[in-house]
Amino acid sequence: MTAHRTFVALAAAFIPGSLFVTSPNRVAAQDASAMLAKPHVQAALDSLRVWEPWTLEQQIQLTEIEAPPFNEQRRAEEYVRRLQALGYRNVRIDAEGNVIAERPGTSGGPTVVLSGHLDTVFPEGTDVTVRREGGRLLAPGIADDGRGIAVVLAVARAFQTLDLQHDATILFIGTVGEEGEGDLRGVRHLFERELRGQIDYFLSVDGTGFGITHAAVGSNRYRVSFEGPGGHSYGAFGMPNPIHAMGRAIAAISELAVPSDPKTTFSVSVVSGGTSVNAIPMEGVLEIDMRSEDPAALAELDGRVRAAFAAAVRDERARWPRSTVPLTLRLDTIGIRPAGRQPESAPIVQTALAASRALGLESDLGASSTDANIPMSLGIPRLTLDGGGRAGGTHALDEWYEETPDAYKGPQWVALVTAMLAGVR
Ligand SMILES: [Zn+2]
Repeated sequence: MTAHRTFVALAAAFIPGSLFVTSPNRVAAQDASAMLAKPHVQAALDSLRVWEPWTLEQQIQLTEIEAPPFNEQRRAEEYVRRLQALGYRNVRIDAEGNVIAERPGTSGGPTVVLSGHLDTVFPEGTDVTVRREGGRLLAPGIADDGRGIAVVLAVARAFQTLDLQHDATILFIGTVGEEGEGDLRGVRHLFERELRGQIDYFLSVDGTGFGITHAAVGSNRYRVSFEGPGGHSYGAFGMPNPIHAMGRAIAAISELAVPSDPKTTFSVSVVSGGTSVNAIPMEGVLEIDMRSEDPAALAELDGRVRAAFAAAVRDERARWPRSTVPLTLRLDTIGIRPAGRQPESAPIVQTALAASRALGLESDLGASSTDANIPMSLGIPRLTLDGGGRAGGTHALDEWYEETPDAYKGPQWVALVTAMLAGVR
């Protein structure tokens, strides 16, 4: 679906007759106050404020169920159970592991997805017990995306309890594989198979505060192996050393200059290899992450990084001209996520901004890498919204979440945006 249809749908709902003369900007603003004025919607938002302790409880309890990459099943099953407890009958787990709950629309309208991601970056066996320190809750994944999946659940509860009627079908979804090596496998599956061609708007709740992610940061991630026969560190001295070659590559990459606008970044993040202290290693392996808001800048960085790998192998071979043993390079792709921007004037962006203003929030626009990268690459209107509260240490073991006094406005805002996109009556 195109942005144009989004605008028409919003305009048609609230100012019939002025379809072609009103700017999307004004439509969204009118839409927000009109939507807020509806008694059922107001009641839903009031409930979300009252239920905030419940929402936080969901966040804590779901965080305490481990959901490592490629093994989110236990948390997914619990998510199903909680959606069913809210009265959702159509809850399923798809072939990739995503949880999908359906709230049918009344008039064959569009389909709106509201999602959070079930997975975390933390491996199996990580202690995910939530600890309290002062006003903070600490646990790996408590914010990313514990907050998001709790907010999705709270909004699902509000729509169900207040029995909101809407044109659109709303799908409440917990995705798998958003992080790292998961490479967006859950959301890819939704768009490529499970719900192919059926999603008109895609919202993901990921992050804290009240920000809007409207642009997608692209990333290229590789695992790169430097390989040789290896040998005794003393007896076989004089042959190329794979870890030395890897060190040359890392040194060269660390000196690369990249633009700050569009923000473009790189990190050699994991290294491994070696056999023992007295052996020339057979292998050095590194993992690298490169990101940019701009596809061209990312492609250029990618080219320079690959050139650095090739030069490192060449230089390490040249260092030992008399050696004939091989030194080879292997590059495996961990994940490729498309980059892209969506204009601030896009109706879905204006809708989220109008809803934010109507609730007295201040939302800024930013770029990130989230589940919304996939609909972005398909041109489907999409946003990632923050879920309220405050957080730090994301992707680290000391990740924390703080329940700010206005945290309840996170679920309220997400509910209002969902109501606007879904055409609540
Ligand atoms: Zn996340």
